[in-house]
Amino acid sequence: MARLFIVFLLFSPLFLSSQNDYLEARERMIADDIKPRGVKDKATLNALNEVPRHLFVPQELWSQAYRDGPLPIGYGQTISQPYIVAFMTEAIKPESDFKVLEIGTGSGYQAAILSRIVDSVYTIEIIDELYSRSKKQLKELGYNNIMTKSADGYFGWEEKGPFDAIVVTAAAEFVPPPLIDQLKEGGRMIIPVGTPFATQQLLMVTKKGGKTKSRNLMFVRFVPFTRRSE
Ligand code: SAH
Repeated sequence: MARLFIVFLLFSPLFLSSQNDYLEARERMIADDIKPRGVKDKATLNALNEVPRHLFVPQELWSQAYRDGPLPIGYGQTISQPYIVAFMTEAIKPESDFKVLEIGTGSGYQAAILSRIVDSVYTIEIIDELYSRSKKQLKELGYNNIMTKSADGYFGWEEKGPFDAIVVTAAAEFVPPPLIDQLKEGGRMIIPVGTPFATQQLLMVTKKGGKTKSRNLMFVRFVPFTRRSE
């Protein structure tokens, strides 16, 4: 009986229209908030259109999932604003054969976006509960080119490196040297650097001829990069 009811619900016009609403909401968000702010990369825009952001936030916030703002995901953490996710994704110039490292899995949304574009995503989260939750959600949604790990991302993921690109989604006081080591020659790392709870610089760190260069892309506000005492 219960199963019949679920089948009925799945095919009911109400359910279908709510699913379409979210697709429309995504299209509207891209047209109103993402494209006008200058994000042009087709692969990035397609990924934003494809990934159901509402499924990465608590259900009571679904109705706000396609507004261009950050949202709380528990444990004092936030899912980044869609524009920032799009900007960071475009900035690493993602290619289909890329292996990307992300520090700060959080909800798993940024990892899901990257996974639609690149070959594989390695993502590390320091809060165990968020690690478990995002791992489960990413698996359930079928994002099987994302590898998750519960650890202090300061040390990167040495066995899996070097990476074509590194995306750090928590604000560090300086660029962790192990991450520089794990960046491929010619690779790009995007990382917010600055004092926690103040505005930080979103840095693009590039590596050429063994030397690194960094430049500020914009001012941002991210949750702090924390450390695990092992
Ligand atoms: N990319 C995430 C954003 C989450 S906010 C998303 O799309 O939802 C940043 C995340 O970084 C938080 O979950 C926080 O717990 C995590 N974090 C902070 N310091 C970290 C560290 N040293 N290693 C790994 N994760 C860290």
